[in-house]
Amino acid sequence: MRVLGIETSCDETGIALYDSERGLLADALFSQIDLHRIYGGVVPELASRDHVKRLVPLVRDVFAKADLPMGAVDGLAYTAGPGLVGALLVGGAFARATAHAWQVPALGVHHMEGHLLAPMLEARPPAFPFVALLVSGGHTQLVQVNGIGQYQLLGESLDDAAGEAFDKTAKLMGLPYPGGPEIARLAQQGQAGRFVFPRPMTDRPGLDFSFSGLKTAVLNAWHECQRQGDTSQQTQADIARAFEQAVVETLVIKCRRALKATGMKTLVMAGGVSANQHLRQALEKMTAGLRAEVFYARPVFCTDNGAMIAYAGCQRLLAGQHDEGGLITRARWPLDQLPALA
Ligand code: ATP
Ligand code: MG
Ligand code: FE
Repeated sequence: MRVLGIETSCDETGIALYDSERGLLADALFSQIDLHRIYGGVVPELASRDHVKRLVPLVRDVFAKADLPMGAVDGLAYTAGPGLVGALLVGGAFARATAHAWQVPALGVHHMEGHLLAPMLEARPPAFPFVALLVSGGHTQLVQVNGIGQYQLLGESLDDAAGEAFDKTAKLMGLPYPGGPEIARLAQQGQAGRFVFPRPMTDRPGLDFSFSGLKTAVLNAWHECQRQGDTSQQTQADIARAFEQAVVETLVIKCRRALKATGMKTLVMAGGVSANQHLRQALEKMTAGLRAEVFYARPVFCTDNGAMIAYAGCQRLLAGQHDEGGLITRARWPLDQLPALA
């Protein structure tokens, strides 16, 4: 089965063609980062309008790259939520209308299921069951995954998501949006140990997270530096290093706990923050110590992309699931409400 995947939940238009026999055939992405940067974050109305502009050229692009005629697919999968409603509606309405014209089924995919399954696109995919760490701009969750659609939430952030914490920390030091890659880049030049920030909620049992206090700790440290007239790039780098270290260690502690609590030996990490090199190294080290393994996607498939939606949609379309009319988008959509794959 060949599926066209369409991702428009936020500020990336991601399109891909996935074939259940041949794997990923082509993918294309347009990131709106430059459009939103001057506002310091995503402006929903601008995001929707830009998706309208990008969809058709990117769809043409993937069919050309795959050397296939337009419309040579067995189904369309689009991100139905969670995300920005206007942005989701652009992709959802486009997908449904196109599926109707091409006389193939359409299916709305859960964006976080897409992220969660993105590591399946790699040469050595993880096997079920596993523990998943979802770390993105809007989510920080630990999930027990027994199969596609069999998701049990083990813990989640009570306030900011990990990616959001990166973005807010960057913003308060005057760094551009999105802050994750900026902080990661600066942290490379940072001196370890000059600043130390808390590892929130690691001193008590449980698998929930909280990152808003960490952001406040960084804010206080940065204000203190400003008071002393020290706002050099080295100081920013030292703060970035300490912040990244605190987030990484907190995530590692909770992942270790989740593996021990479930008795599982496979950890899958997905979402934009899983592109972070220090986090990858730290999880490799932790899992090796438990004789367990960690899996993640290549960096471009950690952040939003069409390939993960094409893959997730293909699995569900193969099982006979498809849209029945009704709702196109959901701003909120708990992952554990998804139907299991038959
Ligand atoms: P969600 O998937 O929860 O709806 P989203 O789609 O906005 O949110 P993603 O695209 O998965 O999130 O990831 C974007 C986030 O990942 C941003 O917060 C960004 O700062 C962060 N990020 C990207 N690269 C890195 C990195 N190398 N280190 C840390 N964070 C990163
Ligand atoms: Mg994005
Ligand atoms: Fe995302």
